[in-house]
Amino acid sequence: MGPILIVVENGAAGITEATKECVNKAKSLAAQLGTTTVAVGFGKQHVSDLRRLAVTKVVIASGGTMDLYNPDAYEKVLAEIFGNVKPYLTLIANTTMGLDLGAGLAGRTQTPLIAYGIDIEEQDGRLTAISQVFAGKLLARVPIPEDGAIVTVIPGSWPADNEAGDPEIEEWTAQDSEAMRVLRVVEPEQSDIDITKADILVSVGRGIEGPDNLPLAEDLAEALGGVVSCSRPVVDAGWLPKARQVGKSGQTVKPKLYLACGISGAPEHLQGMRDADLIIAINTDESASIMDIAHFGTTADMLELMPALAERLKGG
Ligand SMILES: Cc1cc2nc3c(=O)[nH]c(=O)nc-3n(C[C@H](O)[C@H](O)[C@H](O)COP(=O)(O)OP(=O)(O)OC[C@H]3O[C@@H](n4cnc5c(N)ncnc54)[C@H](O)[C@@H]3O)c2cc1C
Repeated sequence: MGPILIVVENGAAGITEATKECVNKAKSLAAQLGTTTVAVGFGKQHVSDLRRLAVTKVVIASGGTMDLYNPDAYEKVLAEIFGNVKPYLTLIANTTMGLDLGAGLAGRTQTPLIAYGIDIEEQDGRLTAISQVFAGKLLARVPIPEDGAIVTVIPGSWPADNEAGDPEIEEWTAQDSEAMRVLRVVEPEQSDIDITKADILVSVGRGIEGPDNLPLAEDLAEALGGVVSCSRPVVDAGWLPKARQVGKSGQTVKPKLYLACGISGAPEHLQGMRDADLIIAINTDESASIMDIAHFGTTADMLELMPALAERLKGG
């Protein structure tokens, strides 16, 4: 059986957590299957992190266009390395880059692609990928064929691997892309708060009605020792920055407490928070979908309940 290949994604501060989650799963699957793990990284940006990944081998692709994501150049070099490594399973984070690269690699290498993966199970030496379909309304169980597959994995699906290793290193010279050139990189807006790291989220949806009511959520979050996140319409309306958005086109969060206030529970929202330890919904509509996954729910008016709760928590 071929190795398990992990495609490394770089963030501003180093190798992304989503990549480290793939490393973690790759290691446990490799131990179960009796195979090895190979990580492929691009460019010199976080090369010292790459050299310390706890995998069997790291292939570092470097060259003119490797320091910034260039779909054409990355796909080409990844397909070359893929042909050389001959992996049984390839894990890529299901991010903007990962989805793009995974699909490109699948096309170039004629390998099946399972996108939106959330887990991979092993039984009797055979693997089955669990992936979300219809924006997470259904889960598909897809047996990995004997010839292997590529799985893009939704961030947050597994714990990150933070172990340091001493892998074998192979340098790979990548060719520049003749078809594509990166002109400039537009950085996403920076936020003072990282909602993915918060233990308690007071998350507001369209039920908040307008920016004037946001202090109610901020007060409650402060009283609980948490921070405010939101659904997409709140971002679209410009009431909170994009960095606070939970869901398919926002962030995936796994807090200890997710207090969903005035959020209906659309599949695209649930995709980003369904794994929270405790979900409490405040929604005047008892038939709202959020009630189906909430551990506790109330049909109280959030605009009345939030200040009352904050006051009670502050000892008033
Ligand atoms: C490709 C794509 C990607 C998307 N990505 C995301 C994403 O990342 N994140 C995301 O959130 N959405 C996303 N969406 C949008 C998603 O489909 C929903 O439209 C959105 O989640 C709805 O937001 P909401 O629950 O705040 O609003 P609504 O669906 O309008 O729900 C508002 C809720 O508030 C309740 N309510 C109203 N007033 C009160 C009150 N006073 N007290 C208590 N409850 C009250 C109502 O009963 C209702 O259930 C995406 C959609 C698409 C197509």
